[in-house]
Parts: sequence; C-alpha cells; structure tokens
Amino acid sequence: ARTETTQVLIVGAGPAGSVAAALLRQQGRQVLMLEKQRFPRFSIGESLLPQSMEYLEQAGMLRAVVEAGFQHKNGAAFAHDGRSTTFDFRQKSSLGWGTTYQVQRAEFDHVLAREAERTGAELRFEHEVLAVDVSGDKPRVSVRSPEGETYEVVADFLLDASGFARILPRLLDLERPSRFPVRGAIFTHVRDGITPGAAGFDRNKILITVHPRHHDVWYWTIPFSNGTCSLGVVAEQSYLARYEGSETERLQAIVGEDPGLSTLLANAQWSMPARQIVGYSANVDSLWGRNYALLGNAGEFLDPVFSSGVTIAFKSASLAAACLARQFGGETVDWEAEYGRPLRAGVDTFRTFVESWYAGGFQKIIFHENANPAIREMICSILAGYAWDTSNPYVADSKRRLGVLEQLCAA
Ligand code: FAD
Repeated sequence: ARTETTQVLIVGAGPAGSVAAALLRQQGRQVLMLEKQRFPRFSIGESLLPQSMEYLEQAGMLRAVVEAGFQHKNGAAFAHDGRSTTFDFRQKSSLGWGTTYQVQRAEFDHVLAREAERTGAELRFEHEVLAVDVSGDKPRVSVRSPEGETYEVVADFLLDASGFARILPRLLDLERPSRFPVRGAIFTHVRDGITPGAAGFDRNKILITVHPRHHDVWYWTIPFSNGTCSLGVVAEQSYLARYEGSETERLQAIVGEDPGLSTLLANAQWSMPARQIVGYSANVDSLWGRNYALLGNAGEFLDPVFSSGVTIAFKSASLAAACLARQFGGETVDWEAEYGRPLRAGVDTFRTFVESWYAGGFQKIIFHENANPAIREMICSILAGYAWDTSNPYVADSKRRLGVLEQLCAA
C-alpha cells in the first residue's frame, strides 16, 4: 500500500479535531484530518457552555459561529415537580464569556470543519482509520478511502479525536470501565410549537427537568433558533428497558410522565425518529502516549447533564496544541504534567458535580430557597463551564465544599 507522511494526523473532524487543527495551523504545522463520515452529519451534544467561547476565539472560529445564526444561550433552567430555578451565566464569579449558543451539531461541526480547512488543514471526508500502530518511532495508521483503496499515513504526532468511536483506546486497550452505572439517552428533534412567553420557558436557556418521582431520571429541552428543540431523556439502562415500542414511542411515554414537560410540548410535532445511545461514559488509563494524545470523547466522557462535553473537547485541543508547539520547537514536554493532569483537573470538577447530581444533593442545592448569592455565583461558574478556574473554591476544593453545601441545603 501507498504511504503518505504528515506532521500531525488528526482522526475525526468533530469539535476536538477541528479546533486542534486550526490551533496547529496557527503554529505552521502540516495537518491532515481524516473523517469517516461526510458532513453535514447528525451528532448529539448541542448545548454549549460559555467557557467554550474562549477556545472558539483562540482557534479563530468565533466569527463563523456567530454568523451561522445559532440560538443564543445565556443560562440553564431546572424544573422539578412544579418547582423551578434558573441560572443566568452572566451572573458567575469567574471571568470570561457569560453567553454562548445552542447548536444543531450537523451544522456546527460543519462550520468548524470548514474553518479548519480555511486555515490550511487538509480534511478528507469518508476516509476511515482502520488500524493504528504506535509501537514504532512514529505513529502509523491504515486508512480506507471512499473508493475502497487502503493506504498508510505516517505522522510525527497523532491526535485521536474520534469521539465515541475511541479508536486508540480500543485498539491499544487503554479503556477502563467508568464508575458510573450504565445510563442511556433517548432523544430527538421536535418542531416544538411552544408559544413565546409560555409559563417560565426561555428559549435562551437549556431546560433540565427532573422526573417527578425518580430524581436520577432527567430530560433536556434545548431550543434552537428555527422553532425546533432537541428533546431527550437520560436514565439508567434498566429504567429505559421498561419501555417498549419504537424509540419515539418510548420517549413519548417517558415525557408523558412529567406533567410540566407534557404541557410545554403539547403542540409539538414529532417528525424525526428518536434514537437511543447507551453506555457512553468511559475512562482511560492514560490520555497520551509516545507521540500521540487522546482528545475530547476519545479520552474520557462523563455524562451529559452539565453539557460539558464540547467544552472538554475544546479544552483538550487547546492544551494539546500548546504542548505540541513546544515539542515541535525542540523542547521536551512532560505530557502528564502539561496535558493529562491539567485536563483531568476540570473533568474531575465536573465529575464531583455529576456524582452529586445523581445522588440528589446538587438538586437540593439548586432548588434551595435561601441560597447565598456569592455561593450561587460560584456554582453558576461551574454550570457555565469554568471548571478549571481554581480561584473558585468549588473548583479548587470541589468535593469538600460541595459536601458541606449539600448538608446545609438538606437541613
Ligand atoms: P465527536 O463530535 O464525536 O467527533 C468524532 C468524529 O470522529 C466523528 O465525526 C466521527 O465520524 C469521526 N470518526 C470516528 N471514527 C473514525 C475513524 N475510524 N476514522 C475517521 N474518523 C472517525 N456535550 C455538550 O457540550 N453539550 C451537550 O448538551 C451534550 N449533550 C450530550 C448528550 C448525550 C446523550 C451525550 C451522549 C453526549 C452529550 N454531549 C454534550 C457530549 C458531546 O456529544 C461530545 O462530548 C462531543 O461531541 C465530543 O466531541 P469530539 O470532537 O470529541 O467527538
């Protein structure tokens, strides 16, 4: 088979891959991106966090995102059994962006991929990476082209941005089971028919509805700018398994269990068949190895509840690009100290909050009536994605601080 060479090979043109490509092009690197699918293609993960805007700016992609006309987002609303509470991300303790977007990923990912190409990265759609060999001096991958031809690429450095496909962790046996129970999601897009001004509903916010009887079952409603919403439910696999029929019928049945959500969506048209995804949480032994690193979902994925996935994907791209700038500049990079640990620091902050969410403690905190405003601003920062801001005590000392707050709010 024919062999090509490149400086940096990126597997996958999702958010992690495209932002990494643009940042590396800023350094003048030669970048080849291989993407299995043809864009636009559907993907889940539609509600961004304000922290992500910093990386879109860094990558020079912000204007293209702004001009694409996505739904403005300024916060998160939570509802449970007739109660509700909202967080406006602009009222956060951390510095930085306080607003962002809710995006149809088919279009968003396409915008980012085109921006990456515009910077001079070479992007090949429908080129699938089949095998990876990182045992030699330089990583080597086998690729299948859309014509069915197989060829090899040898790269100075390999970035795995293959998302849930998790090419490298699977091929190199780096995966270890997540500590979370196996959860799944059923989701779709609906033409929502929600009347403007509907009781307490704000298109500028993601709505998270906690199931009236099961506090570990929750729904997302993510409004888009074209009159549609992303709608989904998350629950343990065993809970979802109780519902029969098509994915659409199952989702409709579970939505029907919440009176507030049923009323809100009374006029919705369910035009797109719902889909299910199960067992998405994943951990890895290491986020890097000799001349390769794992970006975004190809590394770790926690849980959708705080919409942190794309932000973590961007953060990973930004950290890896900074390491590569130094490595290609001839310096020795300690990838654990400069990539693995810093990336995991924020992921672990989110993990503490995810655990507290499913145990019920975090819900007591956000629905508590007499919240201390300063503490609410710090919590708001986490919800806005500022999970790496160690000036926030709920980042620096998240487990202990959150534990204390849970106890105060449970009293
Ligand atoms: P992806 O976006 O998955 O991109 C990977 C790309 O790699 C794909 O285009 C794929 O085709 C390509 N690829 C795969 N295998 C190969 C191969 N062999 N060769 C070449 N290319 C390949 N995140 C949020 O920020 N907000 C949310 O509201 C949110 N909601 C979520 C809800 C659910 C139910 C789930 C499961 C996740 C959610 N997420 C959310 C997480 C979000 O989906 C991911 O974190 C995000 O898409 C990760 O981006 P990525 O670039 O790492 O991977």
